[in-house]
Amino acid sequence: MTIKSLTQLDQIKLHFSKAVFRHRLLTWYQSQGRSLPWREDWVKHKDPYHIWLSEIMLQQTVIKAVIPVYKRFLKRLPTLRDLALATDDEVRELVRGLGYYRRFSFLKKAAELLSTSNKVTWPKTAKDWLSLPGVGPYTAAAVSSIAFNDRAAVLDGNVERVLCRLLNVQLPPNLPQLKKRFQSIVDELIDDKAPGDFNQGIMELGQRICTPTQPNCIACPVSVCCTAFVKKTQSIAPQPKLKTSKVDIALNLLIVKNGEHTILFQRPNKAKFLKESWGFVTTSLNSDELIGDGFTLNQKVLQSAKKIGSFKHNITNHKIAASVWVLNTKKTNLNIGLETGAKKVQDQLIEKSLIANLDRKAWKIYSHASV
Ligand code: SF4
Repeated sequence: MTIKSLTQLDQIKLHFSKAVFRHRLLTWYQSQGRSLPWREDWVKHKDPYHIWLSEIMLQQTVIKAVIPVYKRFLKRLPTLRDLALATDDEVRELVRGLGYYRRFSFLKKAAELLSTSNKVTWPKTAKDWLSLPGVGPYTAAAVSSIAFNDRAAVLDGNVERVLCRLLNVQLPPNLPQLKKRFQSIVDELIDDKAPGDFNQGIMELGQRICTPTQPNCIACPVSVCCTAFVKKTQSIAPQPKLKTSKVDIALNLLIVKNGEHTILFQRPNKAKFLKESWGFVTTSLNSDELIGDGFTLNQKVLQSAKKIGSFKHNITNHKIAASVWVLNTKKTNLNIGLETGAKKVQDQLIEKSLIANLDRKAWKIYSHASV
C-alpha cells in the first residue's frame, strides 16, 4: 500500500504483526540502546526526577549539549526538593547555554507544587502529568511511560519518520491530520509491558538507524515490517516537511554602561522572549515609542546611544535580527521607563551574569568594539 494523499488517511493501517514489531524493537533497544546519564541514573535510583529533568532539557536541544548541563544540575540540585527550594537565578545559572529558559521556570514551579518538606507526590499517568506547568503531550507520555509504566505513546519527528517508512506514507509528516492518525497508530502499537522502553526504542531507531537521509536498513531491527524497505521508497517516504513560516523580528539591545560597570535589567514576565531573565534592555526596532517586550525606552535615551554592531539569532521559531547599542551614563538611577528591576554588575562578572545567548552575543560584540 502506498499513501500519497490525505484522502487515504483511513487506509493507513498496521499491516504487520504488532507482536513481531514490539519484540524486535525491544530486543534491539534493550541490547543496543545508547548508554546515557539519565538512563543510567534511572537504573540505579528509579527517581522520576531524573527522567523528567532530562526530558525537559532535551526539548529542542541536542543530546550532546544536554549531557554536561544535566550532570552539573544534578550535582547542585540532586533531588526534586532541592529544585523546589532553589532560587530562580540559581536554576537559570545552572542551565546556561541551553536556551529557551522558560521551560526551567515551569520545571521549578512544578517541583514546588509536587514536593513538600517530607514527601513528593508524583503524577502517575500522562493525563496527570499534563496538568503540571510546562508539560505538553510529548513530555507527559515520555515521563509517565518510562517512570510509571503508563501505556502512553510518544510521537515526535523521529517516530513520524519511522511510521512514514513502515507504512509507506509519502506525505509531509508534519501535516496535522497525519499526526492525528499517526498518534492513533502508535497508541495501538506501543508495548503493554514495557511502554517506556518501546518509546525510547522507536525514537532512538529514528535518531540512529532510520535517519532522514540514507537510513541504515541493513542494521534495522524492524526491516521485516517495513514497506518502504521492500519497495525501496525510503527517499520519498516521507515527503519533505511543509515549511512553517518564520516570524522575523528586529530588536534593539541596549547595553547601559556606568564606568567599569554595566547595568543589567530583568525582563518582565510579559516579555515576548526570555521572560524574567537578566540582560540588556530589549526593545523592538522601528517602533515609534520603542516599546518592546514589556520595556518602554524613551527616544531621548536611544538618541544618545551609539550603535556598535548587529547579529542574527534564533529563539524557538523566531528569527531575530538584533542591533546592539551602547549608552554611557554617569547616572546610576536611570529613568528610562523600565518597570522591572535593575542591577549594577562589574564588567569582569558580566559574562557569568548573562544567561541568555541573545545577551551573550551582544556582550561579545561590545567586548570587541572600540567604545
Ligand atoms: Fe527505516 Fe529502513 Fe528500518 Fe524501514 S527498514 S524502518 S526505512 S531503517
